[in-house]
Amino acid sequence: MENFQAFQQLLLKPSSIVVVTHFRPDADALGSSLGLKGYLQKLGHQVVCITPSEFPAFLNWMPGSEEVIVVRKSKPETQRKAEDSIASADIIFCLDFNALKRIESLENPVRVASAIKIMIDHHLEPENFAQFSFWDVKSASTAGLIFQLIENLNDLSKIDASVANCLYAGLMTDTGGFRHNNTGVREFEIAAKLTLAGAVPHQVAANIYDSNSLNRLRLTGFVQLQKLTVLKEFKTAYICLSKEELNHYEAQTGDTEGLVNMGLSVEGVRLSVLMHDREGEVKLSFRSTGDFSVNDLARKYFSGGGHRNAAGGSSKDSLQQTLERFIALLPQYQNELNNR
Ligand code: 5GP
Ligand code: MN
Repeated sequence: MENFQAFQQLLLKPSSIVVVTHFRPDADALGSSLGLKGYLQKLGHQVVCITPSEFPAFLNWMPGSEEVIVVRKSKPETQRKAEDSIASADIIFCLDFNALKRIESLENPVRVASAIKIMIDHHLEPENFAQFSFWDVKSASTAGLIFQLIENLNDLSKIDASVANCLYAGLMTDTGGFRHNNTGVREFEIAAKLTLAGAVPHQVAANIYDSNSLNRLRLTGFVQLQKLTVLKEFKTAYICLSKEELNHYEAQTGDTEGLVNMGLSVEGVRLSVLMHDREGEVKLSFRSTGDFSVNDLARKYFSGGGHRNAAGGSSKDSLQQTLERFIALLPQYQNELNNR
């Protein structure tokens, strides 16, 4: 972080702080937010976490999750409450995103807020909206960046078991359980230090990976059996899920997370996409291996972005039209997808 000393000074005075993360928060988004909140509270700050939409039930175990202001479209008072907190904050931390459109209905309130804004993130191509930023695309997770920040502030003793478990969850999930190519020495070092501070790896893993509803597991089976399609000539796998199919399995927030990785696990597949209906639009999740940049693909054609090998986007077309548009893009990438 540039101007680190000024940042350090900023945290000396007890302040009213908002921590906000991206739409459809995942374990890194919520874990880094709640971990940071736990730390900041120990410094004597008043801290509120806000999410622009619901988070999955498998994150309910995170200490502090019950106090998060969750903006729900069906409950306008939640938007008002979030806006009031944002407007009256001295400092706003923006975690695990780097463009304000990622916070949807909170974009404008945060943009116009008088608070000092601090962005902590690891996605590609950041927008410039914050006075302070701690941004590192080489970091596997935002939770890892929060850990490093606390370490740089010489405050490791303020990481208690609750903070450690939240941060560990972000690190574990954004590395795909320490399997993705973003997993290196630094990630294992941070995992070890978090464990020393009280994180319980098997417990966090069980909370997140072994807490499926039966419906979610059946949805996974249905996808593998009937929905996963491989286009061999493009080394590409896709899965399309309609609103009706999701309703049939009573899909809840977070139930589609991870499905896109099943496509990538097929031998020979280099590019995988999951597209599914979401209120008024189609949500896309992309994964790739090697040099193929799904960040570029998502940014160019699906108003999205992310990392080189994991990105997301959206489409205003129907599910079928979105699929056709995606398939029509593939021939231009055929050589790239096959020549590796
Ligand atoms: P997922 O496919 O798991 O939803 O997201 C993969 C990665 O892409 C995550 O790091 C996520 O934050 C990012 N991402 C997902 N959806 C979007 C989007 O619509 N826009 C941008 N810029 N990034 C996204
Ligand atoms: Mn992340």
